[in-house]
Amino acid sequence: GDEVDGNFIRTVKDCIFSKSIPTPLKGPLRLAAVSKDAIEGILDLDMAVTQSEDFLLYASGGRLLLGSVPLAHRYGGHQFGYWAGQLGDGRAHYLGQYTNRKGETWELQLKGSGKTPYSRSGDGRAVIRSSVREFLCSEAMYFLGVPTSRAASLIVSEEPVLRDQFYNGNVKTERGAVVLRLAKSWFRIGSLEILAQSGEIDLLRKLLNFVTDEHFPSISSGDPDKYLVFYSTVVNETAHLIAQWMSVGFAHGVCNTDNFSLLSITIDYGPFGFMELYDPNFVPNTSDDEGRYSIGAQVNVGLFNLEKLLVALSPVLTLKQQKEAKMILKGYTDIYQMRIHQIFKAKLGLLGEKEEDSYIIAFLLKMMEDTQSDFTMTFRQLSEISQLQLRNRNFTQMWALDDLSSHKHFSDWLSMYFLRVSRQENDTDLDRQNRMKSVNPRYVLRNWMAESAIRKAEKNDFSEVELLHRILSFPFVTQETAEEAGYAARPPLWAKRLKVSCSS
Ligand code: AMP
Ligand code: MG
Ligand code: MG
Repeated sequence: GDEVDGNFIRTVKDCIFSKSIPTPLKGPLRLAAVSKDAIEGILDLDMAVTQSEDFLLYASGGRLLLGSVPLAHRYGGHQFGYWAGQLGDGRAHYLGQYTNRKGETWELQLKGSGKTPYSRSGDGRAVIRSSVREFLCSEAMYFLGVPTSRAASLIVSEEPVLRDQFYNGNVKTERGAVVLRLAKSWFRIGSLEILAQSGEIDLLRKLLNFVTDEHFPSISSGDPDKYLVFYSTVVNETAHLIAQWMSVGFAHGVCNTDNFSLLSITIDYGPFGFMELYDPNFVPNTSDDEGRYSIGAQVNVGLFNLEKLLVALSPVLTLKQQKEAKMILKGYTDIYQMRIHQIFKAKLGLLGEKEEDSYIIAFLLKMMEDTQSDFTMTFRQLSEISQLQLRNRNFTQMWALDDLSSHKHFSDWLSMYFLRVSRQENDTDLDRQNRMKSVNPRYVLRNWMAESAIRKAEKNDFSEVELLHRILSFPFVTQETAEEAGYAARPPLWAKRLKVSCSS
């Protein structure tokens, strides 16, 4: 820890954490959302607890648990391709660790809880808008089966927070909110980078030993190659994570090295987006002019970030190990390609491996791009439709397939697809549909859905946040309330005009 107490902003040396006390939000406080699954399943708490005045305080930084020493983490990072120096938790506080009944250890963190030594020019706050998005999306990702940090609660306040929404000088007063978020670890590539960049090699080793001992139990602490094994695991898992993002059309938006977890979980939800019209150049963040973090660029950005991780590890690797690490990194793209191939085969219900599989997948994606078909619903409707219905082009209510079928080569693709699935032994059309429905979600957090819930939340009506949270907890199951809300329908016209930026 840092010897200096207090939250004043400064460049910090020779430490991994600084003690930093949360700044309580101005009341009255309101519980805007709570995750039963996280409260009960991770924190072993009774949901009734969340209705108490105490909970509002504990979960927003107004009161500390006995023995809690809140900390802000010092990290650096490469932002948009360039070394940005010291960043750190500028608006987040670690509260401590909790080992639950299942024996899992989780780190509790508040986001939006005030200034820390790492706040730079920021105010240490998070607004309702971005906090609702983080709460809903991290929980939604979990239920989609994508590795992610979790959110236990969302508390909103009356504290005014100023934000320039699109960096155009239009400052708007919003209100502060705090998310209680959970992860097995919050360490990032940038956590190691800052130590390597500052020549703090003993600390670098110390942090690496801690991370590998705590979170990589298969790596033995005496192994002379343990950092290499660690690297190899992160390379592998990062490839898998990004493939899973692609499988649900998720674009993170700000894939800087400080937002890339060492455990390869999705962290730091900001201007993310779920792709609607299929487009590899989809950019969710309006501030990302060059499209550096477009959905299709994520795999290469992963490679870039892993290169930076290797640079950070180099001071503790021998020359021979550095060479081996470079070889490991060379395998990254293949790991990703293999994984993405498996994932898209599953999305199409394909069993086994046939020569034409890559072609069938690429052909479909090309048609989706040409016809601007909705990514989520095209795959979902292919899962819900029978072969007979498909053959007869009976697309009643199948709006995404209706769009797709306008492609001049649709029939050719269908013939190929039918031939392929007809050759699957011990498989029925119903089995195919069920397999596909279990991997192709019907509901994802589209921007317009989040936006609609946010507009109400800003007026202290949290019913739609709750509705979304509930529906997105079962993304693979058709739900009446979701259908009524139009969550599986063609997006409303106003959705097209929506923007999200980094200003959160
Ligand atoms: P992000 O791109 O949101 O992951 O944030 C990058 C860096 O900016 C991190 O160090 C954050 O802690 C910091 N940051 C973002 N917003 C604020 C804020 N309102 N106050 C202080 N620091 C912030
Ligand atoms: Mg932060
Ligand atoms: Mg971040």
